[in-house]
Amino acid sequence: MSRVLIIGCGGVASVAIRKCCQISDVFTELCIASRTRAKCDALAAKLTGSTSTKITTAQVNADDVSQLIDLIRSYKPDLVMNIALPYQDLTIMDACLACGVNYMDTANYEPEDTDDPSWRTVYEKRCAEAGFSAYFDYSWQWAYRDKFEKAGLTALLGCGFDPGVTQAYCAYALKHEFDSIDTIDILDCNGGDHGYPFATNFNPEVNLREVSAPGSYWENGHWVEVPAMSIKREYHFDRVGDKDMYLLHHEEIESLAQNIPGVKRIRFFMTFGQSYLTHMKCLENVGMLSTTPVQFEGHDIVPIKFLKELLPDPASLGPRTHGKTNIGCIFTGHKNGKPHTYYIYNVCDHQECYREVESQAISYTTGVPAMCGALMLLTGKWNTPGVHTVEEFDPDPFLMALDQYGLPRSESRTPALVD
Ligand code: NDP
Repeated sequence: MSRVLIIGCGGVASVAIRKCCQISDVFTELCIASRTRAKCDALAAKLTGSTSTKITTAQVNADDVSQLIDLIRSYKPDLVMNIALPYQDLTIMDACLACGVNYMDTANYEPEDTDDPSWRTVYEKRCAEAGFSAYFDYSWQWAYRDKFEKAGLTALLGCGFDPGVTQAYCAYALKHEFDSIDTIDILDCNGGDHGYPFATNFNPEVNLREVSAPGSYWENGHWVEVPAMSIKREYHFDRVGDKDMYLLHHEEIESLAQNIPGVKRIRFFMTFGQSYLTHMKCLENVGMLSTTPVQFEGHDIVPIKFLKELLPDPASLGPRTHGKTNIGCIFTGHKNGKPHTYYIYNVCDHQECYREVESQAISYTTGVPAMCGALMLLTGKWNTPGVHTVEEFDPDPFLMALDQYGLPRSESRTPALVD
């Protein structure tokens, strides 16, 4: 029996909400709150009659801590699920602390305005000290560790697929497969085709910022940064086929480097087709990926925000996307003194997701782990106070929930390795 406040009603949140409504004995009451209330009302209307979860809706600007506090105080949830954007992570964490409520999200903090001088000073110091230049990092949310711990509250960070399930895979490998892990390669393959010349599978602004940034990986205790898309490999993905994949910086590398003892190298690869890369390079070259406002006919326009308006809404890709995703981790290391390799991954079919929850597999593979993470918090399986990433918790009940609720694992102990 629990009341959950979900903030955001986009592609990922819609899946998480639908999945919560499939487990009405745990998610007895849900409030969907977002910037555009009409979207929350439309989803609530669709679900009414098909679930015994009691759904209410609210309007909230999650950039405003006082609005959030008012909403949380009036709804009195057991958990706040932040499935809005990474820009709102800190305001929602502040509101949860003020109201004494547990918190979770699906992506680590990044500022909306990367030209803000006070943020930029901290960012530039971090780039110089840590050695990677992504706009997002865990330092902002790790700074809340003491506050959550002292309040006896849990904040679960990054509980989507990657970050999220990939870290549970790491914790699982360490618990059951290895005495020591030497290398981790996280492979994220989307073999889906939506038929558009160019579209992103989740929020375009967040997605394009991520993939146009320099790549980086963790090796022998420090970051190695390389130009965007400069490291390419080909891999044969189970049930998808051969794909080109490129090394990216990704947020879970940062926490895994701290939480997997003795790990020597962690890399992240994502597949991209040539058409996607050509479009992205062209948009970047003409300045359309910039986050800095430009004056146009008397208005301030942020190019990447304008581009978001032109691109297809990721939530609309569901009916048109065919094919499968394959996301997982390949490990090398030792067990009982002998070298060991292990690959754990999930394969998800875009059309099957659409039939179940009217969404493509990218939102599905993020929304289902968000629901399963909430399930872990609400049922007391994950309840250590403080601010934690997924690999810090017991992976077993979480992976069992994923197996049960739509993202079953596959395994291999003789995988092809990535050179
Ligand atoms: P969408 O853009 O589809 O949805 C975002 C939602 O947040 C919208 O409903 C939007 O409202 C709402 N929102 C935005 N700003 C505010 C605000 N200030 N106050 C209240 N609500 C707001 O994004 P996605 O669903 O694609 O992504 C959601 C999150 O999931 C992102 O943080 C993304 O980075 C993360 N993600 C994580 C992945 C993982 O594997 N871990 C993979 C994919 C995504 P409105 O409708 O008004 O715009």
